Amino acid sequence: MPDCRSCGGQLLPGALACSHCHALVHADRLKVLAREASEATDPTERLRLWREALDLLPHGSRQAEAIRARIAQDVQAVDTSPAPDDRSWLGRLAGAGGALGTAALVLWKLKAFVFLALTKGKVLLLGLTKWKMMVSMFVSLGVYWAAFGWRFAVGLLASLYVHEMGHVFALQRYGIRASAPMFVPGLGAFVRLDQYPQTVREDARVGLAGPVWGIAAALFAWGVGVAAGWPSWVAVGKVGGWLNLFNLIPFWQLDGSRGLRALDRTQRWLLLAVVAGMWMLTGDGILILIGAVLAFRIATDTPPDEPSWDLFLTFAAVLAIGSGMTLIDVPGLDGTSRGTVGP
Ligand SMILES: [Zn+2]
Ligand SMILES: [Zn+2]
Repeated sequence: MPDCRSCGGQLLPGALACSHCHALVHADRLKVLAREASEATDPTERLRLWREALDLLPHGSRQAEAIRARIAQDVQAVDTSPAPDDRSWLGRLAGAGGALGTAALVLWKLKAFVFLALTKGKVLLLGLTKWKMMVSMFVSLGVYWAAFGWRFAVGLLASLYVHEMGHVFALQRYGIRASAPMFVPGLGAFVRLDQYPQTVREDARVGLAGPVWGIAAALFAWGVGVAAGWPSWVAVGKVGGWLNLFNLIPFWQLDGSRGLRALDRTQRWLLLAVVAGMWMLTGDGILILIGAVLAFRIATDTPPDEPSWDLFLTFAAVLAIGSGMTLIDVPGLDGTSRGTVGP
């Protein structure tokens, strides 16, 4: 076991500060990081250094508090700085596409799950009418899969992948270490974080980046499907839009819950008005669920005092567009496409 260089006392394994004299164990590395951060001109690079320093400091220490304040400053700097140049993120997207190969393997397992939901799920639905609106979309996912086969599967998987890459790029801009997207059969995809957002703002931006990219991908698939006359990709647009809407439920660790944390009380009421308006327009059951959870959060949460209007507009826009996409009519499935969705 190593000794404290300041007082000579024994250090506990994994300790960040000496339990006898409170000297910082990683003082040398912290000095280097502080110097590098003061010399860095790119806010993303500074955030990466601050976060590494934060990992080496005791959680409640004065130094850790000071670094959290720096992180909040540099998050603002990232948000106001121009987006990274297009070629770099296109290159990274292409490189990350290699992971699609492993995902294809997982697809076969997912396929079995969807057919199970399709056959057994319909029987279950008879007894579970309350859940019908929730499960209906997953059942129609199976209907589309059965009707359109691999074209639908590939399109949907690609659109889910783009959603996850939205999270990954937001994390990278804020200098937060995270894994590449991973696919879980039956559950979708997720990104594992090695470090955590330190402010409500970055958490909300990272959370909403998924639906922003995911909705854009679903819109793209829908556009291509309509232009090229591919019903399979029109179905990708509809299901992709719905899955992103599902992720906007402000519940648990879903993207919508993280986005909502940055909205103040007025903005939450405005968002509820958007949900109500879109429900009257589309009649889709998922909006009742989003509205109910949102009303519960308004009644029980303590929202931040400072409004973030850019985040509100992002949230409201993805919610409205995703809701509108539930109206997409999938050609080639007479009766089945509309009959399974909404009241
Ligand atoms: Zn000591
Ligand atoms: Zn997400």
